[in-house]
Amino acid sequence: MNKLSSLTIKQIHQAYRDKLLTPTSFIDQCIEKTKQTKHLNAFVTVTEEIAENHGMESEKRLYKDKKMKALDGISVGVKDNFCTKDVPTTCGSNMLRGFRPTYDATVVARLRGAGACLLGKCNLDEFAMGSGTVDSIFGPTRNPWGYDEQDWRITGGSSGGSAAAVAAGAVTAALGSDTGGSTRNPAAYCGLVGLKPTYGLVSRYGLIPLVNSMDVPGILTRTVEDAAVVLNCIAGPDDLDSTTIKKEFKPVSIKEDFDLSNVRIGIPKEYYCEGMSEEVVDTWRKVADLLENEKAQVRSVSMPHTSISIAVYSILNQCEVASNMARYDGLQYGLRTDKDYSTEELYASSRSQGFNNVVRSRIFTGNYFLLARNYEKYFMKALKLRRLISDDFTKVFDIDTGVDILLTPTTLSEAPLYSEFCSLHNRDQCARQDYCTQAANLAGAPAVALPAALSRRRLPLSLQLTAPPLAEDLLLNVARKIERLVNFPTIDSVNNVISL
Ligand code: GLN
Repeated sequence: MNKLSSLTIKQIHQAYRDKLLTPTSFIDQCIEKTKQTKHLNAFVTVTEEIAENHGMESEKRLYKDKKMKALDGISVGVKDNFCTKDVPTTCGSNMLRGFRPTYDATVVARLRGAGACLLGKCNLDEFAMGSGTVDSIFGPTRNPWGYDEQDWRITGGSSGGSAAAVAAGAVTAALGSDTGGSTRNPAAYCGLVGLKPTYGLVSRYGLIPLVNSMDVPGILTRTVEDAAVVLNCIAGPDDLDSTTIKKEFKPVSIKEDFDLSNVRIGIPKEYYCEGMSEEVVDTWRKVADLLENEKAQVRSVSMPHTSISIAVYSILNQCEVASNMARYDGLQYGLRTDKDYSTEELYASSRSQGFNNVVRSRIFTGNYFLLARNYEKYFMKALKLRRLISDDFTKVFDIDTGVDILLTPTTLSEAPLYSEFCSLHNRDQCARQDYCTQAANLAGAPAVALPAALSRRRLPLSLQLTAPPLAEDLLLNVARKIERLVNFPTIDSVNNVISL
């Protein structure tokens, strides 16, 4: 039997059928793994009892009712910005400490509906604002790759807890959220597949908002096929989220003999930027060559507005943050500082004690951009530029003259050391880490990060594929092809990792 950290959904289900493993014994091993890897700080809440109950339900379905649902007996982690009924949901913030929602987010309900077993809630940057998982009231999450107690690497963020949990083998899949790269970025640093679906394909109901017009629930798994299985369980219209796409979702089907000869792959030259490591550029080139050898039509394309996407994203992000965070007033929502304050003082003290510096500074800046005298100059201008960025995608994916898919790096380098990363301001961390990921959120396009090579330090390097909206089937089939071609090693086979 493989180690927990390399089992796929298919292998686990086969082991259940062959009675080499049972859901309850597997879930017990996963719980044990959360304990052995506690130092990674992947989870903010481990839902041990819930997981055991879910495991028992799967076991009964399997051996008594002789039915197996798509995720029966599969351990999952959920980023702590998705509401989970009666389970603490904190967004990594003091503001929501002790908050226990009365309902499940749609994605959580759908995972459960498919038989998944909830192992716990995963760490994140406060309110998902970050790209390192270094800004949480629960402390930073550590990357299991190349782990060294003194000098460890970040997982990336903001869904770093979800990524660490999957990479270390505590869960088989996890949900992240992706507003500007928060699923793909930690997937890249932790050697995982990180899928950001088309905006509106997966319900945001119960996902605590960061930027409503860009937020998408994301999926972190160890293989492309697992990502497809999870997507098929959670995607599709939801009456509880009126921004979901109304069209019925056609499940993705991975074809092992997928033919690349009719696929046009674009290499957008503007994605090459200052600070991109040589190793990443090299990997990008090599994978493009591999695809060409498989008869794909690979060519250079231009997306002229790429370089402004960081600034545009940042302005729109802060404006929506300022608006979204207004609800945490200490009265209706969030932490209430309990002194005999006036109403205004109560707002001020609750908000200053509830939010960290990053959140407060985004609220300030957002409100500044939204002042009547600045509204046109910043907010409206950024919306117009967003349209141009989005038009770049429409043009590059033109059916007749364009390409079917884009191949770019995900991040500019391997996972940075915590000490290096924290010497930068949150704004600069994001500008650097999310350079290749944010534009897809501005355009609503689906994108997937996948591990492509090991760096000289034996850390994962990742590439990203981006497709036109609703082309998840093509996206994941091409990703699967690359996965086979690069044959990225499992974490256990690379010996510099935690003993699993
Ligand atoms: N790093 C980006 C930000 O902080 C993206 C975050 C995300 O995708 N949740 O805004």
